[in-house]
Amino acid sequence: MSRREGPIAAQRARNARLADQAAAYAALDAVRDTSGAHDRATGTHTAATPALPVILLPANTRNTEPLPDESRDAFLERLRARLATTFVDAARDDTAPMSGEARAAMEDAAPPQRFGNAPVDDAQTTRDALLGAACATCRGECCTAGGTHAFLRPDSLVRVRAYLSRDGATVDAQQIEAEYARHLPVRHYRGSCVYHTPTGCALPRTLRSNLCNRYLCGGLTQLSRALDASGGDSAYVAAADSVHLRRVARLGPDGARSVARPTGG
Ligand code: SF4
Ligand code: SF4
Repeated sequence: MSRREGPIAAQRARNARLADQAAAYAALDAVRDTSGAHDRATGTHTAATPALPVILLPANTRNTEPLPDESRDAFLERLRARLATTFVDAARDDTAPMSGEARAAMEDAAPPQRFGNAPVDDAQTTRDALLGAACATCRGECCTAGGTHAFLRPDSLVRVRAYLSRDGATVDAQQIEAEYARHLPVRHYRGSCVYHTPTGCALPRTLRSNLCNRYLCGGLTQLSRALDASGGDSAYVAAADSVHLRRVARLGPDGARSVARPTGG
């Protein structure tokens, strides 16, 4: 085994072990679920639940703390500097032709069909809710990289400025800074993004960075593909740290149900 293969092989072995444990919890839950349905359906035999995908996700295991003043100040100082860059050019006109990337970022932040009169795509809404429930089981491990920048780079701030200036409103850098300051939470996960709280991101989607609005980790991508492949709307997800399973949940159209908390989590 080469030096490079050592840690990779160890990680694969660890993932395989955690995936086996998650599959065992899911199988047990499916049996319980089917037995319960059988007991409830007097005189009627209930068919066994088909096997659902079981997907391993990361797990945020941090505790919360009051948002430190230094983190708040560092975030606002960095934001101020980036807003200065954003305001060098005129505000983008969202009704004018724009690059495909800018258009996609705008739609990711505020899908227009959700706010207009156009019919809502039910299948997409169900999928979004399912992926959101998966992230809630993980509790936002990817957000721990958000620190005091929240990934708010000039491309995101250009979009936010255009959004807040829609309908001809005039918005300056101080107003945008105040908008971000207004959403800073009282408590957040220790050492994580300033906006990372136990109830999710404290920022509305329109104010989040383009990266935050688009990011899917490997596990979430696998979940999405597994649902596409199965054609179903349910799955088991298991959130794990580097050693242990922390939380296992069954996701479906009715929401998430905790199946197990193997190490407390
Ligand atoms: S994208 Fe992945 S890492 Fe981020 S919150 Fe969702 S499941 Fe967790
Ligand atoms: S801004 Fe919100 S979505 Fe983005 S890293 Fe911070 S908590 Fe996560």
